[in-house]
Amino acid sequence: MENNVTGKVVLITGASSGIGEATALLLAEKGAKVVLGARREDRLQALAARIIAAGGAVIYAVTDVKKRADLTALVSLALAHFGRLDVLINNAGIASLSPMDHVTVDEWDEMIDVNIRGVLHGIAAGLPVFRQQKSGHFINVASTAGLKIIPNMGVYAATKSAVRFISEGLRQEAGPDLRVTVISPGYTQTELGNGMSNQELRAQTAAGMEKMAIAPGAIAAGILYAIEQPAAVDVNELVIRPTAQA
Ligand code: NDP
Repeated sequence: MENNVTGKVVLITGASSGIGEATALLLAEKGAKVVLGARREDRLQALAARIIAAGGAVIYAVTDVKKRADLTALVSLALAHFGRLDVLINNAGIASLSPMDHVTVDEWDEMIDVNIRGVLHGIAAGLPVFRQQKSGHFINVASTAGLKIIPNMGVYAATKSAVRFISEGLRQEAGPDLRVTVISPGYTQTELGNGMSNQELRAQTAAGMEKMAIAPGAIAAGILYAIEQPAAVDVNELVIRPTAQA
């Protein structure tokens, strides 16, 4: 592996847009074999076509991270198609911001299911494979919201804080064969706020993105940095935020 990325098999959840898509493109360009999961098949298909046209190696499957069986199947696909799994990036996530007073319990549940359970499903699918191979790298995408709480973000921030703690717990148990990295992005120009039901907060988020968000490629570059370190070097956490973000 000339650059420590070439030839690695990298699975990415939430690969159909934003940070996941940018990461897939960058890693494929660097010679990784990428395994893509998300729910929107048309987007995965289009992304895979771009990667293949550029000479990359890719496979994808429709994946809902809320379903443990989907993550198991995606890891199995990676093994069947590429023979091993080197990196599993738990990137899929959603953000539904709202004041606690609005008691949007269904949205709280959905964030917990995707942002926490989804990551746990990725770990459950990847860990036995990494143990058997005696090598592997989990990269879990959290958020600066997991470092600093602000109003209307209570549940989202809690899910991202959970991702940081789950990752650190895993790292401490991992031993010398495994690497665990948390990526904590700040405002990044993606589709993340598009599905928000609270129109006022959706508009505020869009305005914040417009004003200061960095490109998803900046987060992908951080992920690449963590992967390309020598095997004995574990980048534990990278916080990557716009200079304009407080
Ligand atoms: P996007 O909305 O562009 O991407 C989110 C991705 O997650 C999509 O590919 C979406 O695909 C996927 N996804 C959502 N729900 C599911 C599900 N149930 N199963 C599988 N995939 C799912 O936003 P980002 O790129 O910004 O988000 C990526 C990560 O970065 C998230 O974890 C987010 O919380 C985090 N983040 C983003 C920040 C930002 O400012 N953008 C800041 C801090 C953290 P599909 O709908 O096709 O399933």
